[in-house]
Amino acid sequence: MFLIFGANLSEKVINVVSFVCAFCGADARQDMIKSSTRFTLFFIPLFLLGTRYLNQCTNCGAETALTAAQARHSLEWSGSH
Ligand SMILES: [Zn+2]
Repeated sequence: MFLIFGANLSEKVINVVSFVCAFCGADARQDMIKSSTRFTLFFIPLFLLGTRYLNQCTNCGAETALTAAQARHSLEWSGSH
């Protein structure tokens, strides 16, 4: 008997904001990405290994890590404006 296991990474854009990028200095769209890693067994995702949030500049591609609290705050802020 053998097992096939691994990790499945999925990323999705959960919010889009616009501000001056700290890396390229352009006032560009920033995608907020939720990145989840799941443990898989026989290619079936079983449970979540970890979630991280990051901000990606659409102009230069620079990524900045966000905490879950920062991500939640960003969603609340854009929901109220
Ligand atoms: Zn940039």
